[in-house]
Amino acid sequence: MKPYQVAIAGGGLLGRLTAWRLAEQGIRTVLYDAGSPTGENSAAYVAAAMLAPAAEAVDGAPEVIALGYSSLKLWRQYLKRINSPVFFQENGSLIVWHNQDAALKNRFLQHLERAHNGMQPAQQWSADDIARNEPQLGGRFSQGLFLPEEGQLDNRQTIAALAEAAQQAGVDCRWHAPVDNLDELHAQADWVIDCRGIGARQAWNQSGGTRLRGIRGEVARVIAPEVKLNRPVRLLHPRYPLYVCPKENGLYVIGATQIDSEDDSPVSVRSSLELFSALYAVHPAFGEGRVLETNVGLRPTLVHDRPEIRCHAEKQLIEANGLFRHGFMISPSVAEAVVETVSGVLGGNRPETAGELPVLYCGN
Ligand SMILES: Cc1cc2nc3c(=O)[nH]c(=O)nc-3n(C[C@H](O)[C@H](O)[C@H](O)COP(=O)(O)OP(=O)(O)OC[C@H]3O[C@@H](n4cnc5c(N)ncnc54)[C@H](O)[C@@H]3O)c2cc1C
Repeated sequence: MKPYQVAIAGGGLLGRLTAWRLAEQGIRTVLYDAGSPTGENSAAYVAAAMLAPAAEAVDGAPEVIALGYSSLKLWRQYLKRINSPVFFQENGSLIVWHNQDAALKNRFLQHLERAHNGMQPAQQWSADDIARNEPQLGGRFSQGLFLPEEGQLDNRQTIAALAEAAQQAGVDCRWHAPVDNLDELHAQADWVIDCRGIGARQAWNQSGGTRLRGIRGEVARVIAPEVKLNRPVRLLHPRYPLYVCPKENGLYVIGATQIDSEDDSPVSVRSSLELFSALYAVHPAFGEGRVLETNVGLRPTLVHDRPEIRCHAEKQLIEANGLFRHGFMISPSVAEAVVETVSGVLGGNRPETAGELPVLYCGN
């Protein structure tokens, strides 16, 4: 008997969540990650961690939006079982625009109505509503749209807490352990799961099927204790659409650019100007904020912008990837689907679907 039933390569957001859930099911699991429990090598470390299925419905696939709603429920359950504190807010989100950009709001609303799949409708907020609910934005915007069913997490607290939860549940976590050859993991485990995000690009693209690529995203982290926002705010803007996510203790995550490029070099001057101009446009008090960091991450993306679970039965390999810009929003439901796939194959079955996702088979 091998020491483990499952070895996971890649312990970013999806890998550590899956490892934890497998261990909770009593499945002996070892997790290898190139980085540390802090997750500094992952896209998750950079992300804003908005849980925004309604706003994403504007240009997201309906399947992804459904995964977003089911994942919100799962986050609520998970966070009750995780010991470390994680900032998790479900205050909805606010969409604002300047008067001259009202056409953008009409387009946003049209997309939202078209995408409507049982979600609570957006509420039209007047200047008074904005002033009542977001006092510091009072007088700055004459209208807004409130999306009630949205939330956010603190990304770094979440991934650190998941590392700890996985370890406590019995996962053998091997940090600073890059995996270049997945086959080698079979010496340790019956089945291997590849959750290396963009780090899996070469292996994923060798198998044919949809191509995996990186989409560059840039964010800034700013401390601005004098600004108080109660929920994420999105600015509709013709040149720099952005979001401002208030975390704890005056921390704001501002993002994000979306550039079809695998260049992961530092944030460009142009993107910095855009991010900070838009931030200043939301509230000039941000002008006195302090820039803690600017960061770049590559979102692991498939051509249809949806996640995939692929199973190579002969090689006893499962690949899960393509979380794109929705990793925090959908990873619980994707992880549950991976766990269901693993339970199926360990039991000698060949599941066609797992949770809300199809399982795609490669080879025999
Ligand atoms: C700028 C930006 C903003 C974002 N904002 C949001 C948001 O607001 N809401 C949201 O839902 N999503 C957001 N995302 C998307 C989210 O971060 C990703 O979808 C998610 O992190 C993908 O999870 P993953 O586990 O597949 O990959 P990752 O989180 O990137 O994890 C991959 C892991 O694999 C490891 N790895 C790589 N290669 C190897 C190797 N050879 N051996 C061992 N380990 C390896 C890495 O160390 C890493 O820990 C954002 C992303 C970016 C870049």
